[in-house]
Amino acid sequence: MIQLGFLAQVDEEKCTGCKLCENVCPAGAIEMAANLAMIDSDRCIDCQRCIDRCNRENAISRKPRPSQIIRYVDHSDIDELQLKTLCAKAGLLPDMPICGCTRTTGKEAVAAILKGAKTPEDLCALTGLRAGCGIYCITRIFQVLEACGVDVDNPPDRRWIKLTLSLSDLPEEKVMQIDVAYPQCCVGEDWKRLKQRYTRADGKEEKHV
Ligand code: SF4
Ligand code: SF4
Repeated sequence: MIQLGFLAQVDEEKCTGCKLCENVCPAGAIEMAANLAMIDSDRCIDCQRCIDRCNRENAISRKPRPSQIIRYVDHSDIDELQLKTLCAKAGLLPDMPICGCTRTTGKEAVAAILKGAKTPEDLCALTGLRAGCGIYCITRIFQVLEACGVDVDNPPDRRWIKLTLSLSDLPEEKVMQIDVAYPQCCVGEDWKRLKQRYTRADGKEEKHV
C-alpha cells in the first residue's frame, strides 16, 4: 500500500520527446504522443525515476495531486485458500511484505494479478510496488507473476529490463557483503536469479540504462 500526494508532470515547452523517462518508468505511466511524454495519473506512483533520468532541466517534475490517493488492492473478496496456494507456489508467505518500502504483501500482489495485472508494470501501478528503492522487490514481482501463470520472460515492450537501478546492477562483491550481513534477506540468491533472467530474456546480458 502506498499513499500518493504527488505525481509527475511534463513541461510541454521543454520536453524533447527523447523517451528516456518512458524507458525507466516501473509503472508504465509514461507514453509518448506527438513527441511529447504524457503521464497517466492513474498509473504514476511518484517514484521520481523519470525526473532523475531526464536530461532536460525541469522538463519533468512533480506536482501535487488534487487529493491524496491510496494504491492498494483489496483482497477481501478473493478466496483465502486460492491466495495462499498461489503464494505458496511463488515461495512466499501470504502475509509477509514482498517490498520493504511499501509493505505490499504476497497476497496483495497475487490479488492484483487475479484482478487483471498482466505485467510487472501493471503490478507496480496497482499496488505501488517499486515506488521506493525499487531494487529488491523486482525478484518477488517475477515470482508472483510466474506462480500465477504469466510469462514475464518476453513482455511486449520489455520495459522492466531498462531500469535505472535494479538488484542485478549491484556489483557481485557488494551483493555478497549484504548477503553475509543479512542472510535472512536472500539477496545473493535473488541477484543470481535476476542475472539469469536478464540473460535468458535477451540471449545476452543487457547493460541497463
Ligand atoms: S526524458 Fe525528459 S525530455 Fe525526454 S521525453 Fe521524458 S520528459 Fe521529455
Ligand atoms: S511512476 Fe515514477 S517514473 Fe513513472 S511517471 Fe510516475 S514518477 Fe515518473
